[in-house]
Amino acid sequence: PYKGPPASDILKRRKEYLSTSLGPLYTNPLNLVEGKMQYLFDEKGRRYLDAFGGIATVSCGHCHPDVVEAAVNQTKLLQHTTVLYLNHAIVDFAETLASKFPGELKVVFFTNSGTEANELALLMARLYTGCNDIISIRNGYHGNAAATMAATAQFFHKFNVVQVGIHHALNPDPYRGVFGSDGLKYAKDVQNIIDYGTCGQVAGFIGEAIQGVGGIIEMAPGYLPAVYSIIKKAGGLYIADEVQSGFGRTGSHFWGFEAHGVVPDIVTLAKGIGNGAPIGAVVTTPEIAEVLTRRYYFSTFGGNPVCTASGLAVLRVIEKEKLQQNAFLVGSYLKDRLASLMEKHEIIGDVRGRGMMLGVELVKDRESKTPAIHELQQIFEEMKDMGVLVGTGGFHENVLRITPPLCFTREDADFLVDVMDYTMSKM
Ligand code: PMP
Repeated sequence: PYKGPPASDILKRRKEYLSTSLGPLYTNPLNLVEGKMQYLFDEKGRRYLDAFGGIATVSCGHCHPDVVEAAVNQTKLLQHTTVLYLNHAIVDFAETLASKFPGELKVVFFTNSGTEANELALLMARLYTGCNDIISIRNGYHGNAAATMAATAQFFHKFNVVQVGIHHALNPDPYRGVFGSDGLKYAKDVQNIIDYGTCGQVAGFIGEAIQGVGGIIEMAPGYLPAVYSIIKKAGGLYIADEVQSGFGRTGSHFWGFEAHGVVPDIVTLAKGIGNGAPIGAVVTTPEIAEVLTRRYYFSTFGGNPVCTASGLAVLRVIEKEKLQQNAFLVGSYLKDRLASLMEKHEIIGDVRGRGMMLGVELVKDRESKTPAIHELQQIFEEMKDMGVLVGTGGFHENVLRITPPLCFTREDADFLVDVMDYTMSKM
């Protein structure tokens, strides 16, 4: 039995002693005390099915025993800085991680977060090309430090950051974008940006294979290969932000970019990489990696032995438990069932995504696509009351995000859809 303070007490002290910039979710915030695979438990012992944790950290399941064991064993043995000395845990993970990438992508730099990974990727692209201009996609999220906040293109994540050398391209959003599913027309905007807004040469392009924070938006077909060749002609690098879409989450592929038939110059990772351990990574080619030897670049704890031991355990679990395959099978089943809810509920404007990275966009009517923000909040809260946690997101805050730990089962998928169906029927 839980002996800690009640939720009300934690909330009160949180308001006093923690920044209120980001409040906890829900009108009555959840007080979580334990996690086990796809389940979370509150202080009263109530169980919740977690269909959102994948976005935060969890690839193989909360407190997966293999990952916990690896972290505990390494903690007992040694936790220290990544730099200065040798330790096998760091290189073990780097080697195994590099083996998951195509081509020359085999040099790893570890960081503590996704933001840091993207900051480093942008720095490397600028150093390698000698150019400054970076193109990112509207509605994308890349982090909250100077360069990444600039690359992020949603006002609610921006402060008055200096945004020199960043250009935001049209979002190739098949549902709301101006050109519908015509990927080539959106790609032309990238060419226009280069032609009208730069000297003709750029440092690179950064994008998520599927926008996460932006509301689970896949790039319109044909967009990425076209942008890739446009960027290459302008001397730039393609940076794939796989912070959310990596590690088998999309089901069909281990990395999100692989669905588009292009190989990035730099890939950034975080979140699911450590199943909860704070770690991120930049993976690139030896030639590009060389730029950091011009000065001394380091991160004290980025890729420390405890976090890299966790990361290695994560890769092993994904393989051993065939989690990518599970993301594909269960994710496809879940997506089909969500799509069939559209026949019953007019409020669902769109069901999209791949594998276990799915989105359900709610609209007041399908013609005008007016965002159903209030209704979304109601569904979101009621699903929680019935024991299912999903996420919210999207530029209009009208998208239910479904990104469970990859161990999610068919039965879990059924439960989630039944609960969603019930809450929508009640409205
Ligand atoms: N890239 C993407 C695609 C993300 O979703 C996020 C976090 N939401 C980040 C980068 C930044 O990662 P972190 O919060 O670990 O800095």
